[in-house]
Amino acid sequence: PPVIHWFRRDLRILDNTALLHASRSYPSVVPTYILSDWKANHRWTGPNRQAFLCDSLKALAGNLGTIDGRLIIRTGDPIEELGRLVEETGAAAIYYNRDPDPHGKLVEEKLARKCSEWGIECHGWNDVTLHTPDEVLTKSGDPYRVYTPYSNNWLSLDKPTPLPKPGKLDTPKNLRSDPLPRLSHWNLDTAAGGIVEAGEKAALGRLKTAVSARLADYGGMRDCPSASGTSRLSQDLRYGLVSIRTVYRRVHEARKASRSPSTRESMHTYIKELAWREFYMAILHHFPNVLKEEFNPDWRGLPWETPGENFEAWKEGRTGFPIVDAGMRELCETGFMHNRVRMIVAMFLTKDLHIDWREGESYFMQQLVDGEIASNNGGWQWSAGTGADAAPYFRIQNPWSQSKRHDPDGEYIKRWIPELKDVEAKLLHEAPEGNEPLAKDYPLPCLDHGEERKRTLAIFKKHKEQL
Ligand code: FAD
Repeated sequence: PPVIHWFRRDLRILDNTALLHASRSYPSVVPTYILSDWKANHRWTGPNRQAFLCDSLKALAGNLGTIDGRLIIRTGDPIEELGRLVEETGAAAIYYNRDPDPHGKLVEEKLARKCSEWGIECHGWNDVTLHTPDEVLTKSGDPYRVYTPYSNNWLSLDKPTPLPKPGKLDTPKNLRSDPLPRLSHWNLDTAAGGIVEAGEKAALGRLKTAVSARLADYGGMRDCPSASGTSRLSQDLRYGLVSIRTVYRRVHEARKASRSPSTRESMHTYIKELAWREFYMAILHHFPNVLKEEFNPDWRGLPWETPGENFEAWKEGRTGFPIVDAGMRELCETGFMHNRVRMIVAMFLTKDLHIDWREGESYFMQQLVDGEIASNNGGWQWSAGTGADAAPYFRIQNPWSQSKRHDPDGEYIKRWIPELKDVEAKLLHEAPEGNEPLAKDYPLPCLDHGEERKRTLAIFKKHKEQL
């Protein structure tokens, strides 16, 4: 009998744990993707990520063809659709790679129960991370709440190695498939124009470029938003276009082969970023309530302000703070934002506009192509000062000095805010004097950072005193 491989966030054929095991254990594989059928507005996703998903599925369908596989697409509730497919094909098992998100885990539990009702096997594999949350625990077996001891433990563990390519899949003929989706499937219009190319091949290309040209100076360039100093692999890891084992292995080998101490140090710094990704996934696994409330109980119930006109200005990149606006416009135009700028705009929303981090978290999930529930929640709670190992509440970044430090020539700002292209760089990093806008079509700052900083300190302090 055939076996179903249920594709989820592993849209590749190379180094894919469940797909490899499915192809080795059964004579034929039915590679399946179940499309969701929500329409239009969604709190946790939007057109950018769905467009990337559509293109990645198209690329996957093509790749599967090279190993005699045919992607079968169905739409609706995953359990019901998989049940139907089991009936149609007589499949003896369902194979899948585990999803780290709470919703994904619930579906997996339900699927396991259903499979035993249907009398078939059900096999879930760890594939999204190098180490599962339960592999990286303190000596007393508890989850870590702080990054550095977590990462020291994580770094000390042996890493799994990449897996071989699966053999021929021989998907049974004549199975019905829904067409490859387009954005209209979810009643969505258009996505941002500047989204990176989707698909496994493009992701492997980015990994190659990162290892050969970017990571040698990652330590020096990763905080410079105008440079191509980071790997740009986040959406690929989100959708599993490339496996984390392959990423780790390539960087690890390049590091070992390098004679330059600074290159080796940079690549080590990069690997520690991969540990941040797994740290936040472990936090979400052990403390799923972070999606609802502050990780640090001291900061639950803070009096956030109701989002108004300034929230709209923040989203649209017209707060009058060039570095904040450049970041928000990069997000709108490409579905991506540089990490340093994500921290700046997130702190601005929570500490200058006093808006609940959950509003920013949700907006980011709707826009980001790499929208990853665990990392996004971690990043927002870090910036708000409420999270695991977060910035303490009194360490409030000044958007003007951040901008001066990380974009001194205003190259990043001018790239995303063309109205400011002729403005002298030093003027981009300070509040304009005498209420004179920096350029005709560019707004004055919507607030005074010094004043709002004082308000934030007072709000947090008062809240702490009431505990
Ligand atoms: P690189 O610098 O090349 O890093 C390599 C990889 O390490 C990334 O692809 C990512 O998988 C991981 N990584 C790096 N930094 C972090 C981090 N701080 N936390 C977790 N993983 C990290 N990352 C997401 O993947 N999805 C998100 O939804 C997301 N939301 C964020 C929201 C906020 C407010 C903040 C401050 C950060 C967020 N990040 C998120 C983390 C980080 O900004 C991105 O991973 C990074 O910018 C992606 O670019 P890159 O692939 O070039 O990163």
